[in-house]
Amino acid sequence: MARRRQIYEGKAKILYEGPEPGTLIQYFKDDATAFNAQKKGTINGKGVLNNRISEHIFTLLGNIGVPTHFIRRLNMREQLIRQVEIVPIEVIVRNVAAGSLSKRLGIEEGTQLPRTILEYCYKDDALGDPMISDEHIAAFGWASQEEMHDIADLAIRVNDFLSGLFAGIGIRLVDFKLEFGRIWDNDYGRIILADEISPDGCRLWDMQTNEKLDKDRFRRDLGGEVEAYQEVARRLGLLPEGGETAVLDMAEHREKRGK
Ligand code: UDP
Repeated sequence: MARRRQIYEGKAKILYEGPEPGTLIQYFKDDATAFNAQKKGTINGKGVLNNRISEHIFTLLGNIGVPTHFIRRLNMREQLIRQVEIVPIEVIVRNVAAGSLSKRLGIEEGTQLPRTILEYCYKDDALGDPMISDEHIAAFGWASQEEMHDIADLAIRVNDFLSGLFAGIGIRLVDFKLEFGRIWDNDYGRIILADEISPDGCRLWDMQTNEKLDKDRFRRDLGGEVEAYQEVARRLGLLPEGGETAVLDMAEHREKRGK
Protein backbone atom coordinates (compact mmCIF):
# COMPACT_ATOMS: atom_id res chain seq x y z
CA MET A 1 0.00 0.00 0.00
CA ALA A 2 1.33 3.46 -0.83
CA ARG A 3 2.53 5.45 2.14
CA ARG A 4 -0.27 7.61 3.43
CA ARG A 5 0.00 11.05 4.85
CA GLN A 6 0.13 11.07 8.64
CA ILE A 7 -2.27 13.59 10.12
CA TYR A 8 -1.56 13.15 13.80
CA GLU A 9 0.32 10.90 16.19
CA GLY A 10 -1.03 10.47 19.70
CA LYS A 11 0.07 8.36 22.62
CA ALA A 12 -1.69 5.15 21.56
CA LYS A 13 -2.86 5.84 18.00
CA ILE A 14 -1.81 7.37 14.72
CA LEU A 15 -4.23 9.01 12.30
CA TYR A 16 -3.59 8.87 8.57
CA GLU A 17 -5.39 10.50 5.68
CA GLY A 18 -8.26 8.27 4.55
CA PRO A 19 -9.05 7.01 1.04
CA GLU A 20 -11.88 9.52 0.58
CA PRO A 21 -12.41 13.09 1.75
CA GLY A 22 -13.94 13.15 5.22
CA THR A 23 -12.35 9.85 6.23
CA LEU A 24 -9.26 8.95 8.25
CA ILE A 25 -7.44 5.75 9.09
CA GLN A 26 -6.94 5.13 12.78
CA TYR A 27 -3.89 2.94 13.55
CA PHE A 28 -3.63 1.31 17.00
CA LYS A 29 -0.11 1.20 18.46
CA ASP A 30 1.20 -1.03 21.24
CA ASP A 31 2.51 2.00 23.13
CA ALA A 32 1.09 2.63 26.56
CA THR A 33 1.38 5.74 28.70
CA ALA A 34 0.08 6.66 32.11
CA PHE A 35 0.19 9.56 34.55
CA ASN A 36 0.17 12.14 31.79
CA ALA A 37 2.84 10.25 29.81
CA GLN A 38 5.35 10.24 32.70
CA LYS A 39 5.23 6.44 32.58
CA LYS A 40 5.79 4.91 29.15
CA GLY A 41 5.88 1.33 27.94
CA THR A 42 4.86 -1.14 25.29
CA ILE A 43 2.23 -3.83 25.63
CA ASN A 44 2.86 -6.26 22.79
CA GLY A 45 -0.34 -6.96 20.91
CA LYS A 46 -2.39 -4.29 22.70
CA GLY A 47 -3.09 -2.38 19.48
CA VAL A 48 -4.51 -5.45 17.78
CA LEU A 49 -6.78 -6.19 20.73
CA ASN A 50 -7.95 -2.59 21.16
CA ASN A 51 -8.70 -2.28 17.43
CA ARG A 52 -10.88 -5.41 17.61
CA ILE A 53 -12.55 -4.55 20.95
CA SER A 54 -13.28 -0.97 19.88
CA GLU A 55 -14.66 -2.15 16.51
CA HIS A 56 -17.01 -4.51 18.33
CA ILE A 57 -18.24 -1.93 20.84
CA PHE A 58 -18.69 0.86 18.28
CA THR A 59 -20.59 -1.52 16.00
CA LEU A 60 -22.95 -2.52 18.83
CA LEU A 61 -23.44 1.14 19.79
CA GLY A 62 -24.18 1.97 16.15
CA ASN A 63 -26.78 -0.80 16.14
CA ILE A 64 -28.68 0.89 19.01
CA GLY A 65 -28.57 4.27 17.27
CA VAL A 66 -25.56 5.93 18.90
CA PRO A 67 -23.85 7.93 16.14
CA THR A 68 -20.11 7.12 15.97
CA HIS A 69 -17.12 7.87 13.75
CA PHE A 70 -16.48 4.16 13.10
CA ILE A 71 -16.91 3.00 9.49
CA ARG A 72 -15.14 -0.37 9.33
CA ARG A 73 -12.06 -2.23 10.44
CA LEU A 74 -9.46 -2.48 7.68
CA ASN A 75 -6.93 -4.90 9.15
CA MET A 76 -5.40 -6.04 12.44
CA ARG A 77 -4.36 -2.56 13.54
CA GLU A 78 -6.36 -0.12 11.45
CA GLN A 79 -9.89 1.09 11.10
CA LEU A 80 -11.56 3.51 8.73
CA ILE A 81 -13.29 6.36 10.55
CA ARG A 82 -15.12 9.57 9.74
CA GLN A 83 -13.06 12.69 10.14
CA VAL A 84 -14.50 14.85 12.90
CA GLU A 85 -13.66 18.11 14.57
CA ILE A 86 -12.69 16.86 18.01
CA VAL A 87 -14.45 18.54 20.92
CA PRO A 88 -11.54 19.29 23.29
CA ILE A 89 -13.20 17.63 26.25
CA GLU A 90 -12.69 14.20 27.82
CA VAL A 91 -15.90 12.88 29.29
CA ILE A 92 -15.40 10.57 32.27
CA VAL A 93 -18.33 8.39 33.27
CA ARG A 94 -18.18 6.83 36.74
CA ASN A 95 -20.29 4.11 38.30
CA VAL A 96 -17.92 2.98 41.06
CA ALA A 97 -15.31 5.06 42.92
CA ALA A 98 -11.74 4.51 41.67
CA GLY A 99 -8.61 6.32 40.54
CA SER A 100 -8.57 10.09 40.72
CA LEU A 101 -12.09 10.34 42.17
CA SER A 102 -11.12 8.15 45.12
CA LYS A 103 -7.98 10.18 45.65
CA ARG A 104 -9.67 13.57 45.37
CA LEU A 105 -12.68 12.83 47.55
CA GLY A 106 -11.26 10.17 49.88
CA ILE A 107 -13.79 7.55 48.83
CA GLU A 108 -12.52 4.00 49.00
CA GLU A 109 -11.94 2.36 45.61
CA GLY A 110 -14.74 -0.03 44.78
CA THR A 111 -17.50 1.95 46.52
CA GLN A 112 -20.65 1.93 44.39
CA LEU A 113 -21.60 5.54 43.63
CA PRO A 114 -25.14 6.64 44.52
CA ARG A 115 -25.67 7.58 40.88
CA THR A 116 -23.63 7.75 37.72
CA ILE A 117 -21.33 10.77 37.74
CA LEU A 118 -20.14 12.60 34.62
CA GLU A 119 -16.94 14.61 34.80
CA TYR A 120 -15.29 16.76 32.14
CA CYS A 121 -11.59 17.37 31.55
CA TYR A 122 -10.02 19.84 29.15
CA LYS A 123 -8.01 17.88 26.57
CA ASP A 124 -4.57 19.42 26.93
CA ASP A 125 -1.57 17.20 27.68
CA ALA A 126 0.67 20.12 28.62
CA LEU A 127 -1.82 21.07 31.33
CA GLY A 128 -2.41 17.45 32.38
CA ASP A 129 -6.06 17.35 31.22
CA PRO A 130 -7.44 19.48 34.07
CA MET A 131 -10.96 18.89 35.32
CA ILE A 132 -13.44 21.56 34.24
CA SER A 133 -17.15 22.29 34.68
CA ASP A 134 -19.94 23.22 32.29
CA GLU A 135 -19.19 26.83 33.20
CA HIS A 136 -15.68 26.65 31.71
CA ILE A 137 -16.97 24.87 28.63
CA ALA A 138 -19.59 27.58 28.03
CA ALA A 139 -17.30 30.49 28.93
CA PHE A 140 -14.49 29.41 26.61
CA GLY A 141 -16.82 28.17 23.88
CA TRP A 142 -15.41 24.61 23.72
CA ALA A 143 -18.93 23.30 23.05
CA SER A 144 -22.39 24.87 22.91
CA GLN A 145 -25.06 24.22 25.53
CA GLU A 146 -26.94 22.13 22.99
CA GLU A 147 -23.84 20.10 22.18
CA MET A 148 -23.17 19.51 25.87
CA HIS A 149 -26.74 18.30 26.24
CA ASP A 150 -26.19 15.80 23.40
CA ILE A 151 -22.82 14.74 24.82
CA ALA A 152 -24.21 14.06 28.30
CA ASP A 153 -27.18 12.24 26.81
CA LEU A 154 -24.96 10.03 24.63
CA ALA A 155 -22.54 9.36 27.50
CA ILE A 156 -25.40 8.06 29.66
CA ARG A 157 -26.74 5.91 26.83
CA VAL A 158 -23.30 4.45 26.20
CA ASN A 159 -22.88 3.79 29.93
CA ASP A 160 -26.23 2.04 30.26
CA PHE A 161 -25.53 -0.13 27.25
CA LEU A 162 -21.93 -0.98 28.16
CA SER A 163 -22.74 -1.63 31.84
CA GLY A 164 -25.23 -4.27 30.70
CA LEU A 165 -22.94 -5.68 28.03
CA PHE A 166 -20.06 -6.13 30.49
CA ALA A 167 -22.29 -7.36 33.34
CA GLY A 168 -23.42 -10.12 30.98
CA ILE A 169 -19.83 -11.36 30.75
CA GLY A 170 -19.03 -11.02 34.46
CA ILE A 171 -17.28 -7.65 34.25
CA ARG A 172 -18.07 -4.51 36.27
CA LEU A 173 -17.76 -1.28 34.28
CA VAL A 174 -16.24 0.93 36.98
CA ASP A 175 -15.52 4.04 34.89
CA PHE A 176 -14.45 5.05 31.40
CA LYS A 177 -13.48 7.95 29.18
CA LEU A 178 -15.26 9.08 26.01
CA GLU A 179 -14.39 11.62 23.36
CA PHE A 180 -16.78 13.25 20.96
CA GLY A 181 -16.46 14.99 17.63
CA ARG A 182 -18.47 17.31 15.43
CA ILE A 183 -19.40 16.59 11.85
CA TRP A 184 -20.78 19.30 9.64
CA ASP A 185 -23.91 18.82 7.53
CA ASN A 186 -24.25 22.12 5.67
CA ASP A 187 -23.95 24.62 8.52
CA TYR A 188 -25.21 22.30 11.21
CA GLY A 189 -22.68 20.60 13.52
CA ARG A 190 -23.74 17.20 14.83
CA ILE A 191 -22.10 15.43 17.77
CA ILE A 192 -20.89 11.86 17.28
CA LEU A 193 -18.85 9.46 19.41
CA ALA A 194 -15.16 9.36 18.41
CA ASP A 195 -11.80 7.96 19.58
CA GLU A 196 -11.98 4.38 20.91
CA ILE A 197 -13.54 2.30 23.65
CA SER A 198 -11.08 -0.30 24.94
CA PRO A 199 -9.44 -1.43 28.19
CA ASP A 200 -7.02 1.52 27.73
CA GLY A 201 -9.75 3.99 28.67
CA CYS A 202 -12.03 1.91 30.88
CA ARG A 203 -11.78 0.36 34.33
CA LEU A 204 -13.06 -3.19 34.01
CA TRP A 205 -13.13 -5.43 37.08
CA ASP A 206 -13.99 -9.09 37.18
CA MET A 207 -17.29 -9.25 39.10
CA GLN A 208 -16.32 -12.33 41.07
CA THR A 209 -12.70 -11.60 41.97
CA ASN A 210 -12.38 -7.82 41.41
CA GLU A 211 -9.34 -8.60 39.27
CA LYS A 212 -8.45 -5.63 37.09
CA LEU A 213 -8.82 -6.29 33.36
CA ASP A 214 -7.66 -2.87 32.11
CA LYS A 215 -4.82 -0.36 31.91
CA ASP A 216 -4.53 -0.16 35.69
CA ARG A 217 -2.45 -3.35 35.33
CA PHE A 218 0.11 -1.17 33.55
CA ARG A 219 -0.38 1.96 35.68
CA ARG A 220 0.08 0.00 38.91
CA ASP A 221 2.76 -2.44 37.68
CA LEU A 222 0.53 -5.46 38.20
CA GLY A 223 1.81 -7.28 35.08
CA GLY A 224 -0.31 -9.48 32.82
CA GLU A 225 -1.54 -6.54 30.75
CA VAL A 226 -1.98 -8.33 27.46
CA GLU A 227 -3.57 -11.36 29.14
CA ALA A 228 -6.12 -9.04 30.78
CA TYR A 229 -6.98 -7.33 27.46
CA GLN A 230 -7.20 -10.77 25.84
CA GLU A 231 -9.57 -11.93 28.55
CA VAL A 232 -11.88 -8.98 27.81
CA ALA A 233 -11.77 -9.81 24.08
CA ARG A 234 -12.34 -13.50 24.79
CA ARG A 235 -15.38 -12.84 26.99
CA LEU A 236 -16.79 -10.51 24.31
CA GLY A 237 -16.57 -13.52 21.98
CA LEU A 238 -13.85 -11.96 19.82
CA LEU A 239 -11.22 -14.67 20.20
CA PRO A 240 -11.68 -18.32 19.37
CA GLU A 241 -11.43 -20.51 22.49
CA GLY A 242 -7.77 -21.32 22.98
CA GLY A 243 -6.83 -19.23 19.92
CA GLU A 244 -5.73 -16.11 21.75
CA THR A 245 -2.11 -16.25 20.77
CA ALA A 246 -2.91 -17.08 17.16
CA VAL A 247 -4.35 -13.58 16.67
CA LEU A 248 -1.27 -11.91 18.08
CA ASP A 249 1.10 -14.25 16.25
CA MET A 250 -0.60 -13.28 13.00
CA ALA A 251 -0.22 -9.60 13.84
CA GLU A 252 3.47 -10.02 14.51
CA HIS A 253 3.92 -12.03 11.36
CA ARG A 254 2.29 -9.29 9.31
CA GLU A 255 4.45 -6.66 10.94
CA LYS A 256 7.64 -8.58 10.23
CA ARG A 257 6.58 -8.77 6.60
CA GLY A 258 6.21 -4.99 6.69
CA LYS A 259 2.37 -5.10 6.40
N1 UDP B 1 -9.01 7.96 31.45
C1 UDP B 1 -8.47 7.93 30.18
N2 UDP B 1 -7.64 8.93 29.77
C2 UDP B 1 -7.28 9.96 30.56
C3 UDP B 1 -7.81 10.00 31.87
C4 UDP B 1 -8.67 8.99 32.27
O1 UDP B 1 -8.78 7.02 29.41
O2 UDP B 1 -6.52 10.84 30.12
C5 UDP B 1 -9.93 6.91 31.90
C6 UDP B 1 -9.26 5.94 32.85
O3 UDP B 1 -8.79 4.82 32.15
C7 UDP B 1 -10.39 5.56 33.77
C8 UDP B 1 -11.31 6.78 33.77
O4 UDP B 1 -10.98 7.51 32.61
O5 UDP B 1 -11.12 4.46 33.24
C9 UDP B 1 -11.18 7.64 35.00
O6 UDP B 1 -9.83 7.96 35.19
P1 UDP B 1 -9.36 8.79 36.47
O7 UDP B 1 -9.94 10.16 36.40
O8 UDP B 1 -9.63 8.02 37.69
O9 UDP B 1 -7.81 9.03 36.24
P2 UDP B 1 -6.58 8.08 36.45
O10 UDP B 1 -6.77 7.38 37.74
O11 UDP B 1 -6.59 7.20 35.24
O12 UDP B 1 -5.45 9.06 36.44
